[in-house]
Amino acid sequence: MNATKHIVLSSHPPRNGNGNPSIDWGAPDAKQRGPVIGSMNAPHQRNVIGVHSGAYGVYRALAVASGALESDHRPDLSNTAPTVDIGPHPQWRDPNKIVSLDPWGHMVSTVYAEEIAQGLDVRPTIAVTKARIKFPEMAEAIASDRVAPDGDIMRANGEVTVTKAAIEPVWHLPGMAKRLGVEESALRRTLFEHTGNMFPELVTRSDLTVLLPPIGGISLYIIGDVAALSDPRREVACRVHDECNGSDVFGSDICTCRPYLTHGVEECVKTAQAGGAGLIVYNRKEGRALGEVVKFLVYNARKRNPEGDSAAAYFQRTECVAGVQDMRFQDLMPDVFHWLGVTKIDRWISMSDMKHDAMVSQGIAIGERVPIPPELIPEDAQVEIDAKKAAGYYSDASTPHTADLTAIKGRALDDY
Ligand SMILES: [Zn+2]
Repeated sequence: MNATKHIVLSSHPPRNGNGNPSIDWGAPDAKQRGPVIGSMNAPHQRNVIGVHSGAYGVYRALAVASGALESDHRPDLSNTAPTVDIGPHPQWRDPNKIVSLDPWGHMVSTVYAEEIAQGLDVRPTIAVTKARIKFPEMAEAIASDRVAPDGDIMRANGEVTVTKAAIEPVWHLPGMAKRLGVEESALRRTLFEHTGNMFPELVTRSDLTVLLPPIGGISLYIIGDVAALSDPRREVACRVHDECNGSDVFGSDICTCRPYLTHGVEECVKTAQAGGAGLIVYNRKEGRALGEVVKFLVYNARKRNPEGDSAAAYFQRTECVAGVQDMRFQDLMPDVFHWLGVTKIDRWISMSDMKHDAMVSQGIAIGERVPIPPELIPEDAQVEIDAKKAAGYYSDASTPHTADLTAIKGRALDDY
């Protein structure tokens, strides 16, 4: 193990200067932009705040602490290149279009091959691979003639062939501040203070403009030809889905998340079969980015409401516990579309006005908006749907009246 004996604080630049490569965010090509280096192996090379792998950086620290991982391990990147080309797209050269991921993140082993050969520890922040996915809901969709297998995009057993990508967050702090409409200094200070002073460089190192935040990233599932996503002549269907582990994985019936997700996959398959492409953007923002503990506390507060679980109190109960209704910051969500070169979505499978408005404000046109079909809404989730419609979420059905909102529709805790 190659551990140093003394602790080196990173809160101030080294006396002799860094000698690390600079980052010119939004530069025309990868060379001019410069590599993002967040490895702890070679502290003098680092040009960002934070470490790679988001929250998993903490597990890496545990692995080093327990002796399972050499602290100076470097990844062997041979054969790890993407299975399909993505970009470069013109959007990558606009520092305001992409502020929360590194557009070159999947290409580092080629675009920075020279730098890596010279000893720089540049690591991918994006990986692109292939898979087949299978949901019982796809078999149901085939059985009810909503989709038909074609043997390529969808097989007879309901398996869907996908290109999938994993994306770690890479935040350009000046661009983030601009997007959120706050001063960069205020953003830096708040990030510093509200993470328990986790990264002092946020407030002491204005020379470091990029943060690798310890949060979850994005998973993309692309159905059909990836090239169709950036081709304005071909149709694109899309569902932007924020993580809901209880419903997505475990089938909890209190919300519409899994039915909406599988409905999205179904619509993506249809669009891909018609010569376009479908895209599922899965953001790791559990429970509107409030986290699952807060989410479950809110469930109890709703279910124990003396007036019963009704749409009228749905958002109030969230706000009482969390202080806000939502912490997802959809303002940053369109970045991944700019990365993919998407300029318009023909079929947008979502009810959320926040998501819709964030896309439009980033210049990405939205065609038809596709709400969840009523027959796919679980019984206990009617409260959520009514609350969302009344709050102005998009719906092609009639907006519920106030009287409907106070009607008890959710199960009480005694009814489980
Ligand atoms: Zn949910």
